[in-house]
Amino acid sequence: MRKIALFNQKGGVGKTTTTVNLGAALAAAGKRVVLVDMDPQANLSFHLGLDQTKVSLNTYQVLCEGVSLAAACVEVAPNLLVAPATTDLAGAEVELVEAAQRELRLKTAAEAALFVADYVLIDCPPSLGLLTLNSLCFADEVIIPLQAHFLALQGMARLLETCQLVQQRLNPRLRISGVLFCQYEAAPRLSGEVAEEVETFFAAAREQDVPWNRTRVFDTQIRRNIKLAEAPSFGQSIFLYAPSSAGCADYAVLAEEVMKMTEASDVGERPGLAENQEPVVEQAITVTIGETPAASFETQPQ
Ligand code: ADP
Ligand code: MG
Repeated sequence: MRKIALFNQKGGVGKTTTTVNLGAALAAAGKRVVLVDMDPQANLSFHLGLDQTKVSLNTYQVLCEGVSLAAACVEVAPNLLVAPATTDLAGAEVELVEAAQRELRLKTAAEAALFVADYVLIDCPPSLGLLTLNSLCFADEVIIPLQAHFLALQGMARLLETCQLVQQRLNPRLRISGVLFCQYEAAPRLSGEVAEEVETFFAAAREQDVPWNRTRVFDTQIRRNIKLAEAPSFGQSIFLYAPSSAGCADYAVLAEEVMKMTEASDVGERPGLAENQEPVVEQAITVTIGETPAASFETQPQ
């Protein structure tokens, strides 16, 4: 089972669109897929036709009330299951602050009852709080959706630093397996330049002991396509809404690329936590939130 968090603390970069449509593509390819909505805006749930009134169990109950992840899953298409969110989820950030092992709630809920999946895709909220932390503690992999826009690189240092802190302190398996360009404009020169800069950055990290030393900048780029923006209003993935669109084609190719990443080369074990090492990452993340955003992508952590 591959557990992949779609993570970028910026909003509007394509996390939800990618979670839904990569999930749908993997399901169409015969994989059993569970999508976990960890964003209180519940865009993913809405996108797949699960509005607040149709949801019985949700991810708030998974995190705060001991409901297992398996119990919260609803099948929305063959092989495609969703653990939906409602706006209640916003309360979890506050309610869990005093709870024991508050960063491991999602992982514990996933282990509480058997569920079978080839892929679990977690749609993270656009923030660095406890909901994101729970997602990163449960996942083995992170895929970072990016816009090929120079501002998109702002905040990258913090994003990487967050993943590194979680990997060092809480979840040694975590690694950044991929970077995906979404809303890609083929024509403007900037897209190509930004993509090149990102490629160079990750290539330079190959020899370093960081969770992004084997990050793949996906060959597949998701082009800007209006059908992808329309599909949520119809409660459908792009595979149902517009199967002949460029958006559908791009996500199908992405799914092929994701399926080709093998356990051995792209998803590996990391060194474990030292005994009695205290998880202190939340503290670190809070500090990080207080800092001014990294000025540019060149500001590499460590
Ligand atoms: P995030 O989850 O990171 O906040 P979304 O996936 O919700 O980002 O995307 C932000 C907005 O951009 C949404 O309205 C979505 O429909 C739209 N969008 C995402 N990807 C594309 C694309 N490739 N082409 C056109 N619109 C897109
Ligand atoms: Mg979203």
